[in-house]
Amino acid sequence: MIHEEKVEYLKENFSSKWNQAWHDADVEASKAQPAICVCGALATGFHERHCRRFQRKVAGIAVKKLSHLWKPEAKRLRDQAKKEAKCQVN
Ligand SMILES: [Zn+2]
Repeated sequence: MIHEEKVEYLKENFSSKWNQAWHDADVEASKAQPAICVCGALATGFHERHCRRFQRKVAGIAVKKLSHLWKPEAKRLRDQAKKEAKCQVN
């Protein structure tokens, strides 16, 4: 699963957990950059809410926090892809 797929999967299936993890990640990422944003701009609260690089960083942290939720699905998709590949060979 690529990053965007994980985000979509979590939003769809675990929306309240996703919202909570996203909020925690937002606080964490903001604390980690008290003055300057990942993009190099001044890290104000307003900037962080509108900065795509910062938002992506937050989503990355949130995805990592919830890895126990999407990992089984990623494995299922991998197994399914393997099965399909086998079918094509035979
Ligand atoms: Zn920024």
